[in-house]
Amino acid sequence: MGLEEKLPSGLLLTSVEKLVNWSRKSSLWPATFGLACCAIEMMTAGGPRYDLARFGMEVFRASPRQADLMIVAGRVSQKMAPVLRQIYDQMPEPKWVLSMGVCASSGGMFNNYAILQGVDHIVPVDMYLPGCPPRPEMLLDAILRLHEKIMHEPLGPRRAKQLAGTRPELIPSSVKFGKREPA
Ligand code: SF4
Repeated sequence: MGLEEKLPSGLLLTSVEKLVNWSRKSSLWPATFGLACCAIEMMTAGGPRYDLARFGMEVFRASPRQADLMIVAGRVSQKMAPVLRQIYDQMPEPKWVLSMGVCASSGGMFNNYAILQGVDHIVPVDMYLPGCPPRPEMLLDAILRLHEKIMHEPLGPRRAKQLAGTRPELIPSSVKFGKREPA
């Protein structure tokens, strides 16, 4: 018999959820990870003019094991895709992904075999940010929206249940772009 059964409908759990989510969103640590020109805007957001530190996020971590936010800033080449996925896998749960710019989100102007046509082919994306490049203000806005999303996430097994089936498998480029049998 849990304490929550004695309390009016879910009062305790709701409050714990809110407290945990508030602490999670107030201390997101991004992985140090820039792929192309968008990364310059991301770095600017961390500088004194835009001051990402206001949101508890100034600590860009060099090790994925200490990071819980991946900002995919730039186009993802087919060669980089397995590396990106490995970095993602090394990040501890709970973790979030922000796809910054049209290249990361959809391949952008690079509609060719060398560039992944959207990072959501290999990692689950929590927030998409359009633009080429998105300005630092836009990145801050996307981060604040991600904070809002985190505030409404369930905890524990309910979160795992919600995420089940949303984690894409890494598709090797040899399979993705390999010869297909005619239907
Ligand atoms: S969206 Fe624009 S700025 Fe960002 S990586 Fe692509 S080309 Fe560069």
